[in-house]
Amino acid sequence: MHAAHFAGRAHKNQQRKGIDAEPYVNHLLEVAELVAAAETPGDVEVVSAALLHDCVEDVGVTEAQLVAEFGERVASLVMAVTDDKSLSKDRRKWLQIEHAPHLPRDAKLIKIADKTSNLRALVRTPPTGWTRERLHHYVVWARAVVDACGPVDPVLERLFDEAHALAEATYGRVDADRDDIP
Ligand code: ZN
Repeated sequence: MHAAHFAGRAHKNQQRKGIDAEPYVNHLLEVAELVAAAETPGDVEVVSAALLHDCVEDVGVTEAQLVAEFGERVASLVMAVTDDKSLSKDRRKWLQIEHAPHLPRDAKLIKIADKTSNLRALVRTPPTGWTRERLHHYVVWARAVVDACGPVDPVLERLFDEAHALAEATYGRVDADRDDIP
């Protein structure tokens, strides 16, 4: 609950990119819920890291702050799923696929749960301004990251597969004659 409260405060001014501008904390709670629902669930530190997984990348919380508040293991799990924002977006996306096989299992749980939550949100309320092509690319990329993790947890993988199937049915095809594709 300390992590949930900390994350809620850290992300208080952030909303999801969808048209309904859902409070960002909903995403963090969903990722934590998924990690706890795995066949072999994450322990309390993994669930805490799931709640905190975007706070370094998105709202500038430091690793040192996480160590002080939650200890070394939680901090290192958050850092394992944090992109290096000094790199280009394309490079960061590529590195997620490249790094995924080498992540510790607990970080993989968070990674798969994160992609599941993001695909669900994409179907529920697509981000404003995203072209259909961009949505399609996200769906393909999310699958590539999860596949790169290798077998981790059958329950989480099934939940990801369900979210992915729905997203693929929604955005899987890019029609050549659509005029919203740049
Ligand atoms: Zn996230």
